[in-house]
Amino acid sequence: IRDIEQVKELIKSYPDFPSEGVLFRDIFPIFQNPSALDCLLNNLVEQALEFAKKQGSIKIDAVVGLDARGFLFGPTLALKLQAKFVPVRKVGKLPGQTIKFTYVKEYGQDVMEIQADAILKDEKVLIVDDLLATGGTCSAAENLVSQLGATVVLNQFVIELSDLKGRDLLTAPIYSILSFG
Ligand code: IMP
Repeated sequence: IRDIEQVKELIKSYPDFPSEGVLFRDIFPIFQNPSALDCLLNNLVEQALEFAKKQGSIKIDAVVGLDARGFLFGPTLALKLQAKFVPVRKVGKLPGQTIKFTYVKEYGQDVMEIQADAILKDEKVLIVDDLLATGGTCSAAENLVSQLGATVVLNQFVIELSDLKGRDLLTAPIYSILSFG
């Protein structure tokens, strides 16, 4: 596999998962194919480097990955950007002092959490996740980062579900590698 359109073809779609009416996009087939994974990771890294360059060669201090599939991409991205990796997790998973943000989902609410000392004031942060849907999860992460006095410079996704307009909920610029309507 050499180009990103071939990678896109590996993403499987599951109607009515995890609940009725949801069309679930599954990225894990990409991980079964080393050349596809290599292509995807290269695209992600190149896109982030291009962004940093376009902003005047800014230094990204931290890559924040979102629970749980953001953890599949965050550390690789962080290594290539020579930045630290920091997880944002669902509540109750992180030890020590944390800060929390509660957000409303279609059914009920969710709480996301970050370790309070993991990101410093004025640091520049890139948030990464596998998929942007309604934007609620990433918006919570943006909020956590700004509570710590840092700045989100870029939200980066492997997949964007464009019809759900998650973009409208986010503050920082948004880059995605693949898009589904
Ligand atoms: P949002 O908060 O509605 O933008 O949902 C995004 C979060 O839910 C991300 O952390 C995704 O991993 C997960 N998610 C939502 N829909 C899908 C999907 O179709 N495939 C994989 N993950 C999804």
